[in-house]
Amino acid sequence: MLTRIAPTPSGFLHEGNLVNFLLTKRLAARMDAGIVLRIDDMDRERTRPEYVSDIFRVVEWLGIEPTATVYLSQRTARDVEALHDMHAAGMPTFVCRCSRSDLGDSLTCTRHCDAEGIELATGASALRLRLPDGPLRDAMGDVVLWRRDGYPAYQLSSLVADHDFRISHIVRGEDLRGSTVVQLFMARFLDDSPFLRAQILHHPLIVGESGAKLSKSQGTSRLELTPVLRNRLDASVASIELS
Ligand SMILES: [Zn+2]
Repeated sequence: MLTRIAPTPSGFLHEGNLVNFLLTKRLAARMDAGIVLRIDDMDRERTRPEYVSDIFRVVEWLGIEPTATVYLSQRTARDVEALHDMHAAGMPTFVCRCSRSDLGDSLTCTRHCDAEGIELATGASALRLRLPDGPLRDAMGDVVLWRRDGYPAYQLSSLVADHDFRISHIVRGEDLRGSTVVQLFMARFLDDSPFLRAQILHHPLIVGESGAKLSKSQGTSRLELTPVLRNRLDASVASIELS
């Protein structure tokens, strides 16, 4: 059995990340599962070496011993291959040239790109998933699979890595519940994906002192790894029910 932690090195880690790591560690101990450290460094613009080293510093301080470390940025060729396989298996996709300003508040393509048969071209278009009409598409929109900048997007890279590593248990924040449903939809187009059988648990996001949810914008400085912090984290972890 195998679980994973999957931090994004686009800022210093915040307490919410650490709670997620400890919840994953708790589940791994209960299931006697290994933990893969997956560094979600697909965003070349925002990834910085100091953010990557912050991850290793925190993981060690928390007493987590990963059985493997993987960088998503090094898996692009595999993402291409998996995307071709999923497309061949009937996953509905379309090329969209809408920019962020074309979309505005809309999560879905605004210019009927799917009817135009546009070629995918770096800098000019993105590949999107065409979810069936219904509540999932209303909530998640036309999910990007391949970005305009020529790199795979989160939903694709994350799923393909979880599939390839045969991850059996996933602990993620409540904010990713929609992503979970999208990835379960996509996983049906992978060959007998272990992701469809994985136990995927969600936890509430921890709230900062201001009452706001902790997010990356608050990760502007390195956490001080103190016994006080450790006590606070342990108290948070003890109070959280996974669902
Ligand atoms: Zn479009």
